[in-house]
Formats: sequence, structure tokens, C-alpha cells
Amino acid sequence: MNRQLVIAHYHEIGLKGGNRSYFEQALANNIRSALGDDCTQVRLISGRLLVEIRDGASADPLRKVFGLSSFSYVISVKPTIEDMTAAALQMAQQSQFASFRIRARRGNSSFPQKSQFVNETIGRVIKDRTGARVDLSNAEWTCYIELVEDMAFLYSDRVDGPGGLPVGTSGRVLALLSGGIDSPVAAWQIARRGANVDFIHFHGQPFSDPSSARQATRLKQQLMPWLRKSKLWMVPFGEIQSQIVTSAPQELRIVLYRRMMMRIAEAIALENKGQALVTGESLGQVASQTLPNLTATNEVVSQLPVLRPLIGFDKLQIEALAKSIGTYQISIEPHQDCCVLFIPRRVTTAARPDALKQAEERLDLETLLKLGVQGAEIVPK
Ligand code: ATP
Ligand code: MG
Repeated sequence: MNRQLVIAHYHEIGLKGGNRSYFEQALANNIRSALGDDCTQVRLISGRLLVEIRDGASADPLRKVFGLSSFSYVISVKPTIEDMTAAALQMAQQSQFASFRIRARRGNSSFPQKSQFVNETIGRVIKDRTGARVDLSNAEWTCYIELVEDMAFLYSDRVDGPGGLPVGTSGRVLALLSGGIDSPVAAWQIARRGANVDFIHFHGQPFSDPSSARQATRLKQQLMPWLRKSKLWMVPFGEIQSQIVTSAPQELRIVLYRRMMMRIAEAIALENKGQALVTGESLGQVASQTLPNLTATNEVVSQLPVLRPLIGFDKLQIEALAKSIGTYQISIEPHQDCCVLFIPRRVTTAARPDALKQAEERLDLETLLKLGVQGAEIVPK
């Protein structure tokens, strides 16, 4: 059976020193699992990955493999000037260009000459045959040549990878996923730093319709190609909210909801090897995200760090990212947030610790925590 070859590049994991091979192995595994049966082999060769796929298959899923900086479909030939020139000419004939450059690179190659020799020798032939001029900084067409081990790989197009670190190399986190715009972006960013991301969503049923839960499920689905494996816990939160509503001043409600969500999320994370919580909060975006209120939210999480990758982002930046990862359109569809029924008219921008303490003394925190943790269900079941 015929095969196509793809070369995949990474850079950041190249910086990992002693852990390098651990990161490279993880990346190779993630490539295999992204391509599934279309992938017939993945091989590490001198700082890049040589991926073999079935003829006619697409390498497109690699666009969503964190850790990759780019990938290219390549032609492979023996590393002789004659063979490389013939392949470069063949590629050149498939394009139209007025300017070009040859960019040869060596990575532990048996080829005896320097890259510059390859550039000049093949460049001269292409120039003579096509009449195009050489332009090193702004060429319309680039022929990349990678000389690696006892092979030469040629390509002219690079597809961008998503960058970051391979998923699975930075531990496991639990992301609080609402139906909104911010939290899916936050989860994506932490996955991009190599974490396995699980999700938890709090919904208002039976006091609200199932739209926010459906929304969370769709958002998770949209993120799956980047995440590989991921769980989603659904937590019924309506009863907990209704108890908070009856015993706490209106302006403290949102912060009290958030504290309850954090307690439940931390307990579930700890039971499932989670090493951090992730939220989509951004400083000052809404009243519940001021420094005093973020402090009040943090205070109830005692064993895990709370990661807030969007803390310094403004709404436009977050929306642009949401659009680029395809979550924006899902997030803006109308849905009933878990809090809608119990949304207060006023929210304090600085919940006082003593006021929160007083309000929580009127609640049976332990029972509410248990209610949340025991009510949590993994979906799909
Ligand atoms: P988002 O767009 O992520 O909903 P937001 O700007 O609307 O963010 P809030 O609604 O104040 O902000 O929520 C702050 C963070 O708390 C969210 O980013 C999310 O991580 C978490 N959160 C809020 N509501 C829920 C929910 N129903 N289930 C799970 N997490 C939630
Ligand atoms: Mg929200």
C-alpha cells in the first residue's frame, strides 16, 4: 500500500533537557491517537517526527495536536544533489511564482555538504529552468529541504500547529465550565500548556431548563479534538442555590454560589487525581471578579491551586480566541445559566470576609457539599 509522509515540527519541548524524550513520546502518542487508523507509523528522527499516513488520508487532525508548531506533507528522496534537484524541480512545476528561495536544513545527516551548498546548487537550477528570481526574505515560493539521517525531505507548504505542550505532560486539572464564552477558552489554554482537562458544570435543574447542561456538553465536544480524553461532571445546583437564597443577603449570593461551586469542584478534583482548578475569570470583568471577590472565592479552596488563564485578558481578546477555537458560536446561543432564577439585582464588588462567614454560618455547608458531590454525574453516562 502506498503511504504519504508528513514531517511534524515542535519547538518548545526541545527545551526540556533531560525530560525531552518523555515529551517527545507523549507527542508521538497524541499524533497517533489524533490520526487513528490513518496513521501507520510515527518515528522520531533528530528533533522532528516523521509521520506515515495512508495514501489519500488527511493530516488535518494534527492542527489540533498541542505541542506541534507545524507540519508538512513531504517528498522523500535519497540525499544526493541529483535526487534533491529532480524533486525540487518536480515541485516547482506544480506552482507558479516569480520569486523563490531554497531553505535547506541539516539535522544529524549523512550528507557531506553544508546547507548553503544545497541552497545555491539547487537554487541555480530552479532559477535557470523557471526564470524566477531568488528572494531570500519575501519569496513567493519556498522549497524546504530537510536533510535528516540518510534521507532528504522536501516540501513547500507548512501548516501551522497549535503550539504549546503535548496534552498529558502537565498533569490533570478540573475546569469549571459554564455555558458562557470565557470558561471554554480558559480550559483550552490550560490544555495547550499540556494538562489533561476534565470539566465540571453546575446546572440549575430542576429550577431551570436543561439548556446550560446541553451547552456545556456541546462546548466540551467542540474542545475534544484538542483534549483527547476528558470527562464532564454535571452537578445539580438548583437546590443549593435555593438554600443560599433563603439565608443570605442578596448582594452576597453570587460570591456564595461561587464559593460553593469551588468547594464541590475541589472535592471532586481531589477524588479524581485533579491537581488544579481552572476558571474563566478575568480581573474586573464583572462584579464577582474584583480582587476582593476573587480572594473570597480562593479562600475556600484549600488544597489545590486555582488557575485563571484569562485573568489579564480583555473581553475582545477572549472573544477572538473563542472564535478561533470554534466555541464562540456555541457559547452565544441562548441558554439558561444555572444562576438565572436566583440572580440578584445587586452584587457587591467587595464581599467582606465577616459578612460571608456570617451568611455561611446559617447554611449547613457540609450537607450542601455532600449534596453537590453525591449528585455529580459523569456524562455521557
Ligand atoms: P463564563 O463566560 O465562563 O461563564 P463569565 O464572565 O460569565 O464567564 P461568571 O459567570 O462570573 O463569568 O463565572 C466565572 C467563572 O466561574 C466561569 O468562567 C466558570 O469558570 C465558573 N462558572 C460560572 N458558572 C458556572 C457554572 N454554571 N458551571 C461551572 N462553572 C461555572
Ligand atoms: Mg457566565
